[in-house]
Amino acid sequence: MAFDSGFEKSVAIFGSTGSIGTQSIEVARRHKIKIKALTARGDVDRLEEQIREFSPEVCALLDENKAKELKDRVADTFTKIVGGERSIEELAFEVKCDMFLNSIIGKAGLRPTLAAIESGKNIALANKETLVTAGSIVMQKARDKGVSVLPVDSEHCAIFQCLEGYPAKQVSRLILTASGGPFFGKKRDELVGITPEMALAHPTWNMGKKITIDSATLMNKGFEVIEACHLFDVPVDKIDVVVHRESIIHSMVEYIDNAVLAQMGVPDMRTCIQYALTYPDRYEGLQEKLDLAKVGKMTFAEADKETFVLLDLAYRSMRMGGLIPAVLNGANEEAVYLFLDHKISFTDIMDSVKAVVLGYKNIESPTLEEIEAADIEARAAVRRINGII
Ligand code: MG
Repeated sequence: MAFDSGFEKSVAIFGSTGSIGTQSIEVARRHKIKIKALTARGDVDRLEEQIREFSPEVCALLDENKAKELKDRVADTFTKIVGGERSIEELAFEVKCDMFLNSIIGKAGLRPTLAAIESGKNIALANKETLVTAGSIVMQKARDKGVSVLPVDSEHCAIFQCLEGYPAKQVSRLILTASGGPFFGKKRDELVGITPEMALAHPTWNMGKKITIDSATLMNKGFEVIEACHLFDVPVDKIDVVVHRESIIHSMVEYIDNAVLAQMGVPDMRTCIQYALTYPDRYEGLQEKLDLAKVGKMTFAEADKETFVLLDLAYRSMRMGGLIPAVLNGANEEAVYLFLDHKISFTDIMDSVKAVVLGYKNIESPTLEEIEAADIEARAAVRRINGII
């Protein structure tokens, strides 16, 4: 039975046709959360289905031609269709709802996050690139506006739960768990011939392509370290990563008395999405119950930062600060799409991102415009290094 008495939350879902977006819709359907707005890049078929089921007030598409197509298709509904580059940001101010859930992929999620915060709505954040590229600006704006940024990523959702009720000064360490990706245990020379198809076969979590490649290189874990610094206001050197292949413990917090709190569950993103949407309440879960006897054993290992250099590079980038985390993100995003396009190899991702990051001229406390310029330059630098014009 869905526990929905007195529960009249409403949400706008940014990126509603992707992996997190569609799982958010399942959670909303189950708990009768009203969907006020949807946005996507251009998946007209899926948007039409979503509009017919949930009757949102407005739906924004990045692709203007697709927006026209959708407008014709749903002309018999009351949903307003808007299109274009800025349509998502504009929608953020227009829609009245309790919360925005941002599951846009990549750096494209940054401006919509800022618009959502500016409009004073709490935000459930699945787009980690927002915090990687401009974490200081985003969190400062959230504080200024009195807006909560609730993590949707499983690790941060776990830490968020383990931190509840304890003052920050009693925390000694955050411990992020990592599945290790499909190439755990492999050394550099074994990574050379990896194809996108091999890398897309993620053992545990069901995710989109970009994040699956980031998981295979451990860049995703590096981003999560940076994300955790911003979300929980913890210095990077108080964050550790441990490989935990079973993905049952989603992350941990160590306190000054050396007690370690862990949050566990069957790996299922809907748990974290739901927690962000229903916080501070808990509602009946959609995922399976955890059966520890069936799990049998849990294993832990050190992350291999020597082979998976991007994890180490994330720590270094965060220590350097300024523009460098945004350069890391932009360079990586470009490299991942080049790899998915079969234009560069798996190890080229690691090598070119590292070269761009370590060769970049940094500035302290950059503005949003400087961050966006660095993002563009980092992408161009990756293409240049790989001989792609
Ligand atoms: Mg994660």
